[in-house]
Amino acid sequence: MSQETAAPEADSKKKLTFFGEVNQMFDKAAAYTSHPEGLLLQIKACNSVYRMEYPLQREDGSIDVIQAYRAEHSQHKLPTKGGIRYESHVNEDEVMALSALMTYKCAVVDVPFGGAKGGIKIDHRDYSETELERITRRYTFELTRKNFIGPGIDVPAPDYGTGPREMAWILDTYNSVGNDTLNALACVTGKPVGQGGVRGRTEATGLGVFYGIREACRFADDMEELGLSEGVEGKSVVVQGLGNVGYFAAKFLEEGGAKIVGLAEIEGAIHNPDGLNLEDVVNHRKSTGSILHYPGATNIENSAEALELPCDILVPAALGGVITGENAPRIKAKIIAEGANGPVTSEADSLLLDRNALIIPDVYLNAGGVTVSYFEWLRNLSHVRHGRMSKRFEERNAERILRAVEKLSGNSFKEDRFDKVLSEIAFGASEEDLVNSGLEETMAYAYREIRELRHKHDVDLRTAAFISAINKVATSYKQMGIFP
Ligand code: NAD
Repeated sequence: MSQETAAPEADSKKKLTFFGEVNQMFDKAAAYTSHPEGLLLQIKACNSVYRMEYPLQREDGSIDVIQAYRAEHSQHKLPTKGGIRYESHVNEDEVMALSALMTYKCAVVDVPFGGAKGGIKIDHRDYSETELERITRRYTFELTRKNFIGPGIDVPAPDYGTGPREMAWILDTYNSVGNDTLNALACVTGKPVGQGGVRGRTEATGLGVFYGIREACRFADDMEELGLSEGVEGKSVVVQGLGNVGYFAAKFLEEGGAKIVGLAEIEGAIHNPDGLNLEDVVNHRKSTGSILHYPGATNIENSAEALELPCDILVPAALGGVITGENAPRIKAKIIAEGANGPVTSEADSLLLDRNALIIPDVYLNAGGVTVSYFEWLRNLSHVRHGRMSKRFEERNAERILRAVEKLSGNSFKEDRFDKVLSEIAFGASEEDLVNSGLEETMAYAYREIRELRHKHDVDLRTAAFISAINKVATSYKQMGIFP
């Protein structure tokens, strides 16, 4: 879905805006439901947008006027939730579209939030750390003043160009200007672990991308339709973007036995059909400042051309609108796994589906971030680390079970044998274990749900995911008694 145009209103004769494209997807899926038109219109609408401009005095003394936004698409469940991106193309239409995707994404994976999204129109690489801190703190101050942030109102998270550092600044600013002392930690997620973050959040979106791809590859009949064998192991992969989502998706795919044959970053891309070693490539980029000239790999100066490399799975995990009507006919991957938001325009979507590619849509596939953000929010509100109350208890339980087995069998285990078996089974789940298993279950369950809808209605996975989301949001509205 393209993010190029700025005007929020889509004229049907002109190229659709990003929000227009999301709504087009919505309409396509809504045709498979029987909800009243008014209800569908309400679900589609973006409820509130706060647009702000404020000055920043640069370190050289000049003044920049910073443009920023926060869109809250739907309050059918509260709080609303969505990342904040720092990117030079951010605009009102884009945050509206991304906030709508958040509403549908949360519904697909049963995370009880409405959708929101924020953006600041800057290239974060052009600003010093101190300037970024001032930009972030002022943005948070503006959100607080207008009631666009709060543990039960709207909870931001990281997105393109932001991470735990920015989330810590947001928390600190909210704490200093807000009145909510008890639950303030839950005003933002994706925080550093020492500041109320949850273990596993940093890698969550990439890990979720891996779980989603693995689930899709588990269905032998679906793989057969693509001319592929079952499972992730041995599949060739190209990843675009080695940031938070792309890096971790590539890491877990590699650990799962896939072969990374192409990696693309902003300065160029590299290709090796025999496989690249991710960690080595990352170290090479750190030491040379570029992904290019990695030993044994072929350089691709025009990074976008990496999308066209022969591979089984293509993971666009950088920005939106990168697979278009122009390059889609040259894309060879059989599975397009949308790590980024909106990487495939609607024109490209049709072209890829026509040639029978499997597109695992963003609205499902990159939901790992918000899922683990939900776990972080719960941790902050409960004021206790996941697993803290049960870890030792679970360990003792294992010992009790072994003792019971001893008693029932009438044989005593030799003490060293007992200790060995005990050490194998007696471990209580740590916070990270619980977070990752919650994420795995969420991604697997949601995939099965949308796959079932895909087969039931004979539609593509994106439409199936939208049908699932529309039905769930509609149920919420109906249960509120607003619609029949
Ligand atoms: P990030 O800033 O951590 O990383 C993005 C990476 O893409 C950077 O390394 C950047 O250099 C690279 N990049 C930029 N332009 C490129 C180009 N033309 N070709 C190749 N690489 C390029 O951002 P992120 O958090 O990983 O987000 C990436 C995408 O995933 C965005 O669309 C975002 O909305 C989506 N997403 C992120 C999260 C999350 O938890 N961070 C959750 C859901 C969706």
